[in-house]
Amino acid sequence: MATERTLSIIKPDAVEKGATGDILRRFEEAGLQIIAMKKLHLSEDLAKGFYAVHKERPFYGELVAFMTSGPVVISVLEGEGAIAKNRELMGPTNSTEAPAGTIRGDHGTDIERNAAHGSDAPETAKVEISYFFNASEIVAPCEAL
Ligand code: GDP
Repeated sequence: MATERTLSIIKPDAVEKGATGDILRRFEEAGLQIIAMKKLHLSEDLAKGFYAVHKERPFYGELVAFMTSGPVVISVLEGEGAIAKNRELMGPTNSTEAPAGTIRGDHGTDIERNAAHGSDAPETAKVEISYFFNASEIVAPCEAL
């Protein structure tokens, strides 16, 4: 499997409940290295741009309101099959269908307030990473890990 990079966002619901540390621990224990990270309170424009692909969906306005309701923790994860691995750790979109032991199962509430975002493909990962990070904000992974 190829080494990949993916964008993770710990959403406002999970940050507010103090689940940031638990979620980051899960990434590291799964062999995903955090090679960039920032905590931001997204502006409406930044959230709208990030989710522009959903702008025709009925839930777009609510999603933007949720994503701007409090700070988020955004990181770039690197590792073998990082995109699929992160989505496996998160579980399905709807938290009510996410099994215990997944991030959304343990920390999410419903289909919207689902604790975490993870890129869904290499092309989207590339676009999403550059949406939030400059090249100078991303460090080289540790060889020893
Ligand atoms: P993801 O890739 O698993 O995050 O799912 P999507 O790309 O389909 O949706 C993006 C985000 O929009 C999800 O993570 C949810 O926060 C939110 N979302 C998705 N579907 C719905 C919905 O039917 N209603 C609402 N309110 N929010 C949704």
